[in-house]
Amino acid sequence: MTTDAAAPTAPRSLLDLTFAELEREFVASGTSPLHARSLWRALHHGLNHDLVSAEFLPPLRRWVAEQVGAGRRFFIETPEAATDLASADGLTRKFLLRLADGQTIETVLMGFKGRHTACLSTQAGCAMGCVFCATGQMGFVRHLRPGEIVAQVRHAQRALRAAGHAGLRNLVLMGMGEPLHNYDAVMTALEIITDRRGLNLAPSKITISTVGVVPGILRLAAEQRPYPLAVSLHGATELERAALVPVSQRWPLVELMAACRAYFAQTGRRIFFEWTLIAGTNDSPAHAERLAALLAGLAAHVNLIPLNPTGGFVGHATRPDAAKLFQQTLQVAGIPSTVRQRRGIDMAAGCGQLRAERAK
Ligand code: SAH
Ligand code: SF4
Repeated sequence: MTTDAAAPTAPRSLLDLTFAELEREFVASGTSPLHARSLWRALHHGLNHDLVSAEFLPPLRRWVAEQVGAGRRFFIETPEAATDLASADGLTRKFLLRLADGQTIETVLMGFKGRHTACLSTQAGCAMGCVFCATGQMGFVRHLRPGEIVAQVRHAQRALRAAGHAGLRNLVLMGMGEPLHNYDAVMTALEIITDRRGLNLAPSKITISTVGVVPGILRLAAEQRPYPLAVSLHGATELERAALVPVSQRWPLVELMAACRAYFAQTGRRIFFEWTLIAGTNDSPAHAERLAALLAGLAAHVNLIPLNPTGGFVGHATRPDAAKLFQQTLQVAGIPSTVRQRRGIDMAAGCGQLRAERAK
């Protein structure tokens, strides 16, 4: 009978490791941790997929030969694009990336005036079940590992480089999944992505969007995480919100707003609130007034997102004049807002929509 101790450990993704963890791996294998920096640079700055033919000093070449590759301790994940679509206006590019176990996740690249933003997934599927969301409609499949989140940034960055563009400036965690339901993996991924020696994205340019996982919001504040926070509301009364966002039964609006106020008190940072505008459901001036009352006294900015239609939800996007009126009503109440177009509707750019469409 084999024991657990005798079982070989499963290979790990090098992209799962923070810099400190990589250094510890070098120490454990009897190689100077000074080599961690060169390997890190090749991985996260050079964006190399192939470390075996990289020009390293002999000890590092030996380490790579012994540790990385088929049947060894580490591998590098290089999810390939099962689908790579560009929108008609050329401003959006959408990848459906296939992970090692066959799961597919969406990564979207948006370009505007030479500034590029990538929208990342944090889970395959989502457990939160928001009724209008294509990812919510497919249910939860699994959490992503840190390396699977980092790999999306590498993919986007490599695509920009190949097209001769400047690198990524902004990240939004608004793809498939609920980031605060996969808290530890997301925080590790962001630590890797913001490391100055590698991808070097600015923490202030990385927005975490949550459906309102209250313990996660409180933890972000307690840990003083430096990332901007967006909270998806969609409804300003318990009943109206619960009809769209089922998890508000677990974390009611009253608790969510208390968490937002605590977050603001502890961090002093403004919070973004997302509101998907659905015609006839939550887009009237009265809805806007209730939203403004809910946000009174908070440093808030509202992002209004006209609904992107999905197969599993009967509902339409707000008409532009209704969106404008909603925005004006907020403005009168002193709440700043922006109407955000979900880019590239011609190519199913709502989160989870591309995967849902491919599955048909
Ligand atoms: N789970 C997180 C982040 C991913 S969703 C969250 O819910 O915040 C990112 C944003 O897209 C959320 O505000 C979500 O409500 C919105 N969204 C999802 N599906 C949409 C759709 N079909 N049309 C418009 N906005 C949508
Ligand atoms: Fe999950 Fe966000 Fe979609 Fe809700 S909107 S189902 S939380 S991904």
